Amino acid sequence: MPVSERYRPDPRFAGLGGEFADPVAPADFPKTILRFRNDRAAATVGLEGLTDAEWIAHFARFQPLPGNQSQPLAMRYHGHQFRSYNPELGDGRGFLFSQQREAQTDRLLDLATKGSGQTPWSRHGDGRLTLKGGMREILAAGLLEALGVPTSRAFSLVETGEALTRGDEPSPTRSAVLTRLSHSHIRFGTFQRLAYFDRADLITQLVDHVVETYFPHLADAPDRPTAMFAEVVSRTARLVARWMAAGFVHGVLNTDNMVVTGESFDYGPWRFLPRNDPNFTAAYFDHSGLYSFGRQPEAGFWNLQQLAACLVLVSPDQSGLIAALNGFSDAYRAALSEAMIARLAVTSQGGEADIELVNAAFKALAEGTKLDGGEALRWEPFFFDWFGGEASEARALEGPRGKLYQDPVFAAFRARLAGFAPDRPERLENPVFGQCEPEELLIDEVEALWTPISEADDWAPLNAKLARIESARIAYNLYG
Ligand code: AMP
Ligand code: MG
Repeated sequence: MPVSERYRPDPRFAGLGGEFADPVAPADFPKTILRFRNDRAAATVGLEGLTDAEWIAHFARFQPLPGNQSQPLAMRYHGHQFRSYNPELGDGRGFLFSQQREAQTDRLLDLATKGSGQTPWSRHGDGRLTLKGGMREILAAGLLEALGVPTSRAFSLVETGEALTRGDEPSPTRSAVLTRLSHSHIRFGTFQRLAYFDRADLITQLVDHVVETYFPHLADAPDRPTAMFAEVVSRTARLVARWMAAGFVHGVLNTDNMVVTGESFDYGPWRFLPRNDPNFTAAYFDHSGLYSFGRQPEAGFWNLQQLAACLVLVSPDQSGLIAALNGFSDAYRAALSEAMIARLAVTSQGGEADIELVNAAFKALAEGTKLDGGEALRWEPFFFDWFGGEASEARALEGPRGKLYQDPVFAAFRARLAGFAPDRPERLENPVFGQCEPEELLIDEVEALWTPISEADDWAPLNAKLARIESARIAYNLYG
């Protein structure tokens, strides 16, 4: 196969040894129909030159990539699910396939799967993923990336020709195997499993691996577990803040769904907010609203507490861990301010001024949502209309929500916004801002994208949507 110079395999995780993962074989699928390949993501690791046949050989048959892991590895982990500890988790329908360096940054990136077959950790599960589930993950990851959220990227989706039975989809339903590209799949739950077995030695080994592989600037820290933890706290705070500014509800914030490098991944029952609503819940099985929109910061903090409890076993000084944990709320508030300022595309003034603008924006969203029976102001259009602040005032007032913005509930927000200069206002020249409505992914649209695939194997609407999300990503260019 033609491997480019930019492809640099570096299978580090396998070097941790047999306590961390189990070699597994992929399922032998009856069919392999390529449905999605992310060549932009592939280019970041030098794999965009693969032919479709080679792509399928690697991302449906899982033939090893040259110089990479010789076998897929099902990772071992435990975790809290909805606050109950479950020692029977682990990669039950996925594995780590390969690791390679990102060409531009040199950072290590994982290619890992969902739906690639059974493993020792499948329990009673079939090890499979539904095609609809795969489609939903491609959409979520795509829009999150466009909105500046640190996220895994959907890399490949191959339909696999099996008929699956699921309680939450009309069954039988079609099967697929998804591959994602992300920085590390080392979960909070990876540490929890080691703590559960009282293996301080392995926790130390894993801390060293995480620091040396992902946080090399911390290599000389006198207390590596605490230094690593402080980094994870700050990355988690930033991740949660970016979800909040994106109006994203992950749905399943269990400790096995959070990784130490602070990207979100594993998009199951996710939803984007139709409109501002702290109680909005994504997963139909989340009866208490534990992971509702407004409770995501609390979920992030709670999960960090569980990680800290593992690191207590290996840190010489607990007070450092406690101090790092207590840094979460300040880190979250600062990250939320940064994320909201970025979404409004205005130039930060730092400190209090930013915070007051952010508070005014949230107040406008909350009050504005109550107008006109709650139908008028959706989450995403508010940010789209005011992108660039005052530089967008005419556009906002002439657009579909122009009349709404004349309401007094927006006065304080508009007055504050007027005091901020636009950030990179040339972005407003992008034709995306000539449209009346932004790209959203509300549940009705997601279902409407699935229907033609399900009924007529028509992928054109999905591909058109992905192209529009890509245009939005380029237009927003949120973090420069
Ligand atoms: P998730 O909800 O995808 O994060 O999965 C939670 C746990 O259940 C993980 O250990 C998964 O590997 C496992 N799991 C979920 N669905 C399946 C399935 N269909 N087959 C095997 N394991 C599964
Ligand atoms: Mg998971």
